[in-house]
Amino acid sequence: MWRSDQRGNREFAHGKEAWGLAAQVAGGCACFVADVEEEQVVEEELSCYNCRYRRWSVDSFTCLRLPPLNAAA
Ligand code: SF4
Repeated sequence: MWRSDQRGNREFAHGKEAWGLAAQVAGGCACFVADVEEEQVVEEELSCYNCRYRRWSVDSFTCLRLPPLNAAA
């Protein structure tokens, strides 16, 4: 589901059009916060694509809220 980008950020591994997966992740994420309305990009509100903590990258987005994948447990 996730991969590390070059800076070690947690990047969604499925790009910008994996609507079902993005909704599934957000549905199971206790950290979801809806972004302001003009930044929401999909109709279904509960989606990483609409989350305040996603930052668009070239191919996908990174999540600024969940810990990096390589963080010590
Ligand atoms: S972008 Fe991050 S914080 Fe927001 S719903 Fe997705 S996984 Fe959770």
